Amino acid sequence: MRGQIVSIGELLVEIMREKVDQPLGVAGTFIGPFASGAPAIFIDAVARLGVNCGFIGTVGKDDFGRLIVERLKRDGVDTAYIRSLSDYTTGVAFVTYFSDGSRKFIYHLPRAASGKIYEDQVDSDYLSKVKYLHLMGSSLSINEECRKICYKAARVVKDAGGKISFDPNLRPELLGIEKIREISEPILSSCEVVLPSGEEAKMLAGTEDAEEASQKLLEYGPKIIALKRGKEGSWIFTAKDKIKVPSFPVKEIDPTGAGDCFDAGFVVGLLKGWPLEKAARFANAVGALAVTKKGPMEGAPTLEEVNRLLKDSGACQII
Ligand code: ATP
Ligand code: MG
Repeated sequence: MRGQIVSIGELLVEIMREKVDQPLGVAGTFIGPFASGAPAIFIDAVARLGVNCGFIGTVGKDDFGRLIVERLKRDGVDTAYIRSLSDYTTGVAFVTYFSDGSRKFIYHLPRAASGKIYEDQVDSDYLSKVKYLHLMGSSLSINEECRKICYKAARVVKDAGGKISFDPNLRPELLGIEKIREISEPILSSCEVVLPSGEEAKMLAGTEDAEEASQKLLEYGPKIIALKRGKEGSWIFTAKDKIKVPSFPVKEIDPTGAGDCFDAGFVVGLLKGWPLEKAARFANAVGALAVTKKGPMEGAPTLEEVNRLLKDSGACQII
């Protein structure tokens, strides 16, 4: 079946500093372009896990745009609702990493093709068959047009009986925290699952402790909170349960995209109706493999690679 999981939002290329601790504001070497955009990394990972999926978004009619669309197509994403505009250039993000684990971005998005998603790309017929629509806070933050389109897509999917998954994916560089809380509220109150990092949960709930913040987020409406804890794995919260699921030991090369790949594993698990612990373990394996390669989307593993990691770690093969 076409498009069981669909995502909508920014498509962009990432240009990254070759070495750590090189600020963006000095001359130096960059590598890339790499296909990127948080919702794009998510959907690419879903496709590589073997699930029918599609994407709604926009690129410019240029080589960066072609690189992204060809990459998604190659991995199995339905790109029928990706538009290519000749009067806008493809979105670009420049990124650098520091040895303390922090990173810094310069985004060329709001006025690029990434920020131009049109009403007619939100096709009710297409979306009414979707089981999960995955939304990212970064997509709600690009500009008001995109935000309205994301809300509309969410309404269409919900009205047709589908579910919403939401990664707050806060980028305080794009919008302040108060505004992020305000624009996240309509999605938080209508989604099935929220997948925040500890910092994001704390910012959204306005509390100092990630566990307390996750419990508080449940009160906003979602049935499940999947709290991402980096190399410590993930914690899953529902009204009844709290499940702590350990990670897999891997060598971290590039952490970008781990959260998006985790989301893909978890939503695929929910789609398949797995118990939450099994979905989280699978998602932890997808996230762990994602950090083993340089580039935002390059580490998105195939189902075979995930199963190999699960088997090697002593867990029985999941599918
Ligand atoms: P980002 O926004 O950079 O994509 P995030 O903060 O949303 O990341 P993380 O918690 O960094 O998400 O990573 C998501 C999941 O991937 C974790 O919950 C964990 O299961 C797995 N993971 C991430 N980093 C590692 C690591 N170094 N070793 C093992 N597993 C990891
Ligand atoms: Mg994240």
